[in-house]
Amino acid sequence: MSVRVYTPGHGLYTDTLILYGITLPLCEALGERLLKQPDLIRAKSLGQVYELEIQVNTSSDIARAISNYMSRHKSEMMNRLSGKPLGFFSEKDVDVVAQALTDTNGMGAYIQDLTKPGHSKRKREGRKGRGNTMRLPLMPIAGKYLHEDLTQASRYPQAQYKACNYCCALASLGLSQASLPILGAVGREWHRIVTVLAFEGEVNGDYFRLLNNYRVSDWERFYSRLGKAVAQLPLRVLVKYVVTHFSPTLVRGMRGALARWYVFSVDFAGRPKAPQIRGFQDLEITPLITGLSKLYKLPNISTLATVELQGLLDLLVESGEAQALEALMDFIATRKLEYLYIFARGTYSAIERERTGVLKGGRWRKALAQAGRFQELANALLRSE
Ligand SMILES: [Zn+2]
Repeated sequence: MSVRVYTPGHGLYTDTLILYGITLPLCEALGERLLKQPDLIRAKSLGQVYELEIQVNTSSDIARAISNYMSRHKSEMMNRLSGKPLGFFSEKDVDVVAQALTDTNGMGAYIQDLTKPGHSKRKREGRKGRGNTMRLPLMPIAGKYLHEDLTQASRYPQAQYKACNYCCALASLGLSQASLPILGAVGREWHRIVTVLAFEGEVNGDYFRLLNNYRVSDWERFYSRLGKAVAQLPLRVLVKYVVTHFSPTLVRGMRGALARWYVFSVDFAGRPKAPQIRGFQDLEITPLITGLSKLYKLPNISTLATVELQGLLDLLVESGEAQALEALMDFIATRKLEYLYIFARGTYSAIERERTGVLKGGRWRKALAQAGRFQELANALLRSE
């Protein structure tokens, strides 16, 4: 038996969060079975919504998986959503989310409604619609704003977008448990940069399981090592930087799916409980994922950025060499020599500045050795084509 559901139709960003709100609990509920049979969960993008096919008997099975997940992860979600790294919610807000997610009768009826496409229209949710106000981090963009850079945040009308309890609660679960947030500062202002992975095409349970594992075991480590300087990078570069740190396993899983990959990244600034949007980036990362997967196939390579080149990457970030850093990642994505040239020019001058600067340290030696190592990897990558 299988249950087919459609995400409600609140725009791609919010529906992506809701997709994770449903699938991550299922990953835990299916456990080992999913490892052997990844097709127990299948997800397909249909433009602005996703279609999910899940091998369970009834909608109630899905509601129970969500409720169990919520009970198990409540304190983690409380910390993440009301404290660090997200902090957009009050503790009371998280209690409201928890209540909706553990209400198995209500949630079962909601999932049953999702078996027909068009939940948001049917329930008259949306701008000036019915329900609770969806908080900005769950709905930073809508329709026509999707492909625009929202740097002029003040002109963005923060109209009241309404949705039912269950839509809001599942999007909150997805934001807490599937996004890859970065906490940083630009000058004296705090920023929270939230990155969410999305796809076009089809994926199965492998992807959701790998993303869940990555966030739990590797992301926190990468995140804790990030300096505040990363928030000063242009948003586009920062997004690529985050992707470059994906684990080889996650990269292989994404490369193996019949999908094109995208990231949504939103830069929230100001007071966490009343954030403003300073930037939005919607970027296709399929070439970067393909390039990274080629790189990980080379002999004698571990995890590119996180281990072997970290000294160099840190130096580039801290010395503000965003262009050289981006060129490194663009070379991996395209294998075009012009990027290697831009990388080399910016990198060697940054290393030279460090070597001859007032604050002479030994750091330049490590960065120089790692720049050489990247040139070797680049050569190997070119040879492998
Ligand atoms: Zn709803």
